[in-house]
Amino acid sequence: MSVLTTPPAHYIGRFAPSPTGPLHFGSLVCALGSYLDSIAHGGHWLVRMEDLDPPREMPGAAQRILTSLDAHGLHAHGPVEWQSRRHTLYLEALEQLRAKDLVYPCSCTREQVRKAGGHRRESCVGEQGQYALRFACAGATETFTDIWQGEQTQPIAEDPILKRKDGLYAYQLAVVVDDIQQNVSCVVRGADLLDCTGIQRQLFRALDTEPPLFGHLPLVMNEGGQKLSKQNHAAPLDDATPSQNLVQALTFLGFHPPPPLANEAPAQILSWASARWQRHAVDRRNRLLGQ
Ligand code: GLU
Repeated sequence: MSVLTTPPAHYIGRFAPSPTGPLHFGSLVCALGSYLDSIAHGGHWLVRMEDLDPPREMPGAAQRILTSLDAHGLHAHGPVEWQSRRHTLYLEALEQLRAKDLVYPCSCTREQVRKAGGHRRESCVGEQGQYALRFACAGATETFTDIWQGEQTQPIAEDPILKRKDGLYAYQLAVVVDDIQQNVSCVVRGADLLDCTGIQRQLFRALDTEPPLFGHLPLVMNEGGQKLSKQNHAAPLDDATPSQNLVQALTFLGFHPPPPLANEAPAQILSWASARWQRHAVDRRNRLLGQ
C-alpha cells in the first residue's frame, strides 16, 4: 500500500521549532501541514520547543512562537515539551549507544575533517583534550519513501556529532530521542531537513526503534531563491491576521479555499481544511509565495 494513503496506526505528529527567532510564513506552512496531517488521520499533534543551543537562541522567541501558534488556532494535544529540560534522556541514549560501541570521542579539528574529506572513525585522532561524541554510521545507505519527496537513497558520508565539544547535545540526537520518547509516528516538516533523515533513521534503529514515517513539505522561497528562514530575516508572522495567514498557507499547500473563508475564525478554517486534507493533493514544488 502507498504511504500516500496508509494512515499510520495511533498517529502522533509534532511541530518542533527552534527558538532562534519568531515564526515566519514558511514555519506556518510546516506547522499547519503537520497539524492537518495529524488531525485528518485522527491523531494527536504535539509541540516541542527545541531549545538546545542557547547561544543561537533569541531571547523571548520561544514564548513568541507559542503565542503565534495559539493565535493561529494550532493548539497542541498535550503540554509543550522543552528540550532544555530533557538532558537526562539524551545522556541515557548516549549510554545506550556507547554500550553498543556506536559512539566514540573525537577531537578532530574542522581542518582535519576537511582534509580527510569527511569524518570517519578510521581517520579520527580520538580523544585529545576536549572532544565531541560521534555516531558511527558512515558507509551505510538509507533508502526510504518520503510522503511528498518520494523514493530516497541517502548514502551516509560521515559520522555525525551527537554531543559537541562545548558539551551541548546536537540536534540529531535530541530530535530522535524525543521522537522516540514521545511515540511520534509521523514526522512532517520542511524539505530543508530531508537530507538529515537518513542519519536520523540510522539513529532510530541504533536505539532499537523502527523509524517513523517522514514527510517533507515544500519550502517557501524568497526572491533571492533561498528558503524563508530566520537566518535570512524572513518577516515575522503577523499574529493580528491569523485567518489571512492560514488561508495563504493553505493555498501554498495546494488547497483552494473559497475567499470568504478568510473572514472566519482560525478554528473554522482549520476544521474546513482538516476535512479536506489529502496527502496527494499537496503541491510539492518549492516556490515563491503566490506562484
Ligand atoms: N528544530 C528544527 C528546526 O526548527 C526542526 C526539527 C524537526 O522538525 O525535525 O529547524
